[in-house]
Amino acid sequence: MRLLLANPRGFCAGVQMAIDVVDQALELFPGRTIYVYHEIVHNKHVVERFRDQGVVFVESVAEVPEGEIVVFSAHGISPAVRADADARSLTTIDATCPLVTKVHSEAVRYARQGFQILLVGHRDHQEVVGTRGEAPDATQVVESPDDIPRLDIRDPDKLVYLTQTTLSTDDAGVIIDALKAAFPNLKSPPSEDICYATTNRQHAVRQLAPECDLVLVVGSQNSSNSKRLTEIAANVGTPGKLIDDVTEIDWAWFPTGDETVLISAGASAPEDLVAGVCRALVERFAATIEVRDVFKEDVAFAQPSTLRKVMRERGIDPASRQIRVRPPTITREAYGTVALTIGGR
Ligand code: SF4
Repeated sequence: MRLLLANPRGFCAGVQMAIDVVDQALELFPGRTIYVYHEIVHNKHVVERFRDQGVVFVESVAEVPEGEIVVFSAHGISPAVRADADARSLTTIDATCPLVTKVHSEAVRYARQGFQILLVGHRDHQEVVGTRGEAPDATQVVESPDDIPRLDIRDPDKLVYLTQTTLSTDDAGVIIDALKAAFPNLKSPPSEDICYATTNRQHAVRQLAPECDLVLVVGSQNSSNSKRLTEIAANVGTPGKLIDDVTEIDWAWFPTGDETVLISAGASAPEDLVAGVCRALVERFAATIEVRDVFKEDVAFAQPSTLRKVMRERGIDPASRQIRVRPPTITREAYGTVALTIGGR
């Protein structure tokens, strides 16, 4: 068996920042309960690991006792949630990814200019709920071209589309083309809303999957960008399976044991889970690992200002706590073997 490890995979800068925020909050506020509004990132293991450290996840700020500390998740929140938190005198730490905040700002700006906003995305996803909340009267969610006849359009010359950051670039392209066909004067956002991490992980799978018999994506079922990676694999003709960890592998997926398997991971999936999957396949099938570099990423986001302020008050230089996402080193101990590096750019 050959395992191809796609680079980039796994943590993006937004997820790394959000996880660091909770880690730092636990350290900076010892003895205090840290509440997190919604799953900090959409990964079961990340959430369970924080729960084990005493973090309490809530789906409404009304569940947070007055005056306590609440972290807003990477997916962003609507202004109504922020107002509720203020009304309860909560200390808020906003771990919204800056690339989600960018889409929020666009929604606010276009709504102020009198545009109606067609928000391409999954209606119930936390990010879409938050973005829509910035301009609820001006925003309609479009999940598929089938939604277009039902749209309530005031002026087809005053329309803009925005997108959720973690969509499949393939699917979003189809929906946006259909919107442009229906509304030729539809305005595009000033820059792409689907984020760099989503685009790069999808591009790597799109490029490498045709060489493979199967694509394994490590990520949780509620992770939008992880699910999209399996769909991208299917679009290029290779079946994709989404697994939370090694325990979800079905050995029947490998009838000969001689398959070539691409391994990727959603932006919220920790690398130790990827390593566990590799180790199991190496042990069972004497698999080799090849690292395939499709894109090199070097992005980092600063900690939220509230947290930086607390750090300075405690004599900590926030820059010293900045963690960058680095491509992991493949060790025999963690992955079952060392890797060959083949290809890349
Ligand atoms: S997937 Fe993109 S938008 Fe979401 S947290 Fe990561 S960088 Fe930010």
